Amino acid sequence: MLRSHTCGELRLTDINTEVTLAGWVQRVRNKGGLIWVDLRDRYGVTQLIFEEGSTDKALLDKAASLGREFVIQASGKVIERTSKNDKIPTGAIEVKAETLEVLNAAKVPPFIIEDETDGGDELRMKYRYLDLRRNVVREKLQLRHRMMQETRKYMDAQDFIEVETPVLIKSTPEGARDFVVPSRVNPGEFYALPQSPQTFKQLLMVSGFDRYFQIVKCFRDEDLRADRQPEFTQIDCEMSFVTQEDILNTFEGLVRHLFTNAKEVQLGEVERMTFADAMKYYGNDKPDLRFDMKFAELNDVAQGKGFAIFDQAELVVGICATGAGEYTRKQIDALTEWVKRPQIGAKGLVYVKCNDDGTYKSSVDKFYSQDDLKAWAEKVNAKVGDLILVLSGDAKSTRKQMSELRLKMGEDLGLRDRNVFKPLWVVDFPLLEWDEETQRFHAMHHPFTSPKTEDIPLLETDPGAVRANAYDLVINGVEIGGGSIRIHDRPTQQLMFKHLGFTDEEAQKQFGFLMEAFEYGAPPHGGIAFGFDRFCAIFGGSDSIRDYIAFPKNNSGRDVMIDSPSTIADEQLKELSIQVELKKG
Ligand code: ASP
Repeated sequence: MLRSHTCGELRLTDINTEVTLAGWVQRVRNKGGLIWVDLRDRYGVTQLIFEEGSTDKALLDKAASLGREFVIQASGKVIERTSKNDKIPTGAIEVKAETLEVLNAAKVPPFIIEDETDGGDELRMKYRYLDLRRNVVREKLQLRHRMMQETRKYMDAQDFIEVETPVLIKSTPEGARDFVVPSRVNPGEFYALPQSPQTFKQLLMVSGFDRYFQIVKCFRDEDLRADRQPEFTQIDCEMSFVTQEDILNTFEGLVRHLFTNAKEVQLGEVERMTFADAMKYYGNDKPDLRFDMKFAELNDVAQGKGFAIFDQAELVVGICATGAGEYTRKQIDALTEWVKRPQIGAKGLVYVKCNDDGTYKSSVDKFYSQDDLKAWAEKVNAKVGDLILVLSGDAKSTRKQMSELRLKMGEDLGLRDRNVFKPLWVVDFPLLEWDEETQRFHAMHHPFTSPKTEDIPLLETDPGAVRANAYDLVINGVEIGGGSIRIHDRPTQQLMFKHLGFTDEEAQKQFGFLMEAFEYGAPPHGGIAFGFDRFCAIFGGSDSIRDYIAFPKNNSGRDVMIDSPSTIADEQLKELSIQVELKKG
C-alpha cells in the first residue's frame, strides 16, 4: 500500500508514530517558513506541517509548490497540535512531514471542492467525478450503499433469492415509452430495455422460485422531472402462495429494517388507507400524512344560500389551516393568486378567519351568516385562530387543486418536517383508469394486476368501478413502492387484455409466452417494486433523486460528462442496417 493510514484515522494516541499518508491537497497555507497542507481522502482530512529549520529547504519548496487537488504521498511523525481543531476528528494532531512525493499534479479544478461549493449544477455534472470528491455528495452515495446492503441482508434472511433478469428484452407494459436497441444480427428488429422485470419475475414464480428479489436497473422513456431519471433502480420483489396481507407485512418489515439499520429511526405504525379515502380526504393517491388538514366536504352547508359559484359547483371543499387566522389580507391575496396560477387552475379562493372573539370574517360574508360559517368551521374542525380555505368546482379538479393548496399550506406552516416519517399503505386502487386522450381504459398499475374477485362482474357493466388487489407504499407524500397480487390463469389474463382493448392476436403476440406459462401450473403470486433512488432521497431528506445517483442525467436525459446520447459512426449504422433520416417538427 502507498499509505500506512487513511486521512481520517490518526488521533492523540498515535503521537510519535511514523506514518505515510496519501490523498488530495485540500488547502495549502503558506506562512513563509511554515506551511500547512490539508490532505484529504474519503475518510477525512489530516493536517501536514512543513517547518523551516526542521525541514530541508527543498522539501519546503516542494510543499510550497503544491496546488489544490494535487495527489501526494507524505511521510512523517504524528505530533500533537498546539492549536487544536475540534471540528474534525483528526484535529488534535498533525503530521510533521519528512518526505513528500507528488504522485500526480492537478489542474485547478473548475469549482471549489468543499461542502459549500461555487460550482453551478451544469458545471458540477460535467465534472461529476470532481463533484463526487465532495463529502456532502459522497455521503449520499454511502447512504445508498448502506441501504443496498441492508436490503440484501433483510431479503436474504427472509429466504428471497436474488436473480438477475435480462436487460435486452421485449416491451413491458408499465405505461411509459420503451428505450429500444437495434439488433445487428436480426436486421430491422429491436430489443426493448425493461421498464421493469415484471414478466420475468412472474415467470420465476411459475418456475417455483417462491421468493425472488433483485436490485435492478429499469428504463423508462418519460419526460423528466426532479424525481425521475430515464434509468433508475428498483428493489423488485415477487412471492408465491401469498395474500395481499402477507406482502404488506413482509415489506413493511423491509421498510422497518431499513429505517432502523440505515437511518436509526424507529418507524411508527404504517397506516392503511383506501384509494377512495385518499382521494376524498387528501385529493391525492399519495397523501402526505405528516400533517392533518383533511378535506371536509361543505356542499350541504355551503349550497342554497344564494352564492351562485358554490351553488353551481359539484364539490365545495374546505381545509383548516391551524393557527393561520392571523394571515393578513396580503398573505391571503397571495394565496389566491397562487391557486389561480395555470399550474393549479382554480378560479378563486374563499376564506373564513376564525376570530379570537368567536366571530368569523369571510370573503363571502354577503351570502353567509355567522351561524352558516360556524357550521363550516365545525365541518372542517376549525377553532379560534384558524383559517378555513375553500375551493369549489367539478369534483375531480377541485380535489386536485385543494391537494396542492393543502401541501402548500403544510409547507408554509412548517408542517412538513424532513425528519418526521409517515409511511402509509394505499390499498384498493381501481383496476382501470379512463384515458380521455385515447378514449379507452388503461391498466392503472399494469395488465397483470388481479381484480378483486367480488368486483369481476363489474368488468362488463362498470369497468371504472372495479377495484384491484393493488397497493402503494407512500412515505411523506412520495410514492416509494407499488405492487399487486397478479392474475395467474390464462382466461382471466385474456379477459383483462380484452378490456384493455387488445385483440386476441395482439395479446397473443405480445404476451403469449406469459399466458402459456400460466397453463403449466402457475402458483398464485404477487409482488412489489420500490423505487430505490426515491427511497434513498427520502432517507437523505432531499427532493431530488439525482443526488443519490453517482452519474445522473440532466433534465433532457443527457449525460453532460460523457456527452451522451450522441450520434454513432456510419460504419456502426451500416452494420445495424439502419439509415438515419430525422423527421423535422
Ligand atoms: N413492476 C411494477 C412496477 O415497476 C411493480 C410490481 O407490480 O411489482 O411498478
